[in-house]
Amino acid sequence: MVFRKRILVQGTVQGVGARPFLYRAARANHLTGFVFNDVAGIIIEAQGEDFHLNSFVRLLHNPSVCPDWPPLMQIEKLQVQDRPPQEGEADFQILSSRADGSPICQVTPDTAVCRQCLAEMTNPTDFRYRYPFIACTHCGPRYTLTKSVPYDRPNTTMDRFLMCDRCHRQYTNPTDRRFHAQPVACPKCGPKIRLLDNRKKILETDSDEVIRQTAKILRGGGIVAIKGLGGFHLAADAMQEQAVNADRQNPLQ
Ligand SMILES: [Zn+2]
Ligand SMILES: [Zn+2]
Repeated sequence: MVFRKRILVQGTVQGVGARPFLYRAARANHLTGFVFNDVAGIIIEAQGEDFHLNSFVRLLHNPSVCPDWPPLMQIEKLQVQDRPPQEGEADFQILSSRADGSPICQVTPDTAVCRQCLAEMTNPTDFRYRYPFIACTHCGPRYTLTKSVPYDRPNTTMDRFLMCDRCHRQYTNPTDRRFHAQPVACPKCGPKIRLLDNRKKILETDSDEVIRQTAKILRGGGIVAIKGLGGFHLAADAMQEQAVNADRQNPLQ
């Protein structure tokens, strides 16, 4: 016998790879229906045989038994309601987000780069080789680039970076680690690093050269303000007394 349930999932559920995970889990359980982000969290409607539907709902209650549970996803509240089954629904889909109502969903914190991204960043054959803004569904900035919820690209500061074909293919593929990862970018289409002096004059824009010049400044006893996620990191060579003293007194003069 076929049943249908509507499930509201709340907690840290946006920007963590929850929708592709739920999509895969629903399909593995032969369910039809849909999932989408809204201002309260994630809404799922799932339909299928009793046994399959129950095993899907049980999964949401038991992250520890699930090996591919997204590492950053934390469910704090689940509301499950019965719904009348729908006829003619053929598959399970990820729908676009809805933004009506007042936002009550949590924004995910920024997270350090993951091992898979680091492996790509240091692989000379990868198209993101040495790209400093590498990120995926399991890592990278979230809070820092969120302008509003639902957490979707147009609601982030990444909205002005138009994805290239390669990034877009990953972003739209539900089996890819970067499916709907809003910070997805590469050297061709994403943000770039540059080096400026203390009068905001641009000194260097080539990525490798920016790093080389920065190292040179630090070795020469200078101070560099490195813009990171959500703030600046003042860097100086800790073995050079005069550089450390300057940093403590008036770093950006
Ligand atoms: Zn990653
Ligand atoms: Zn790209």
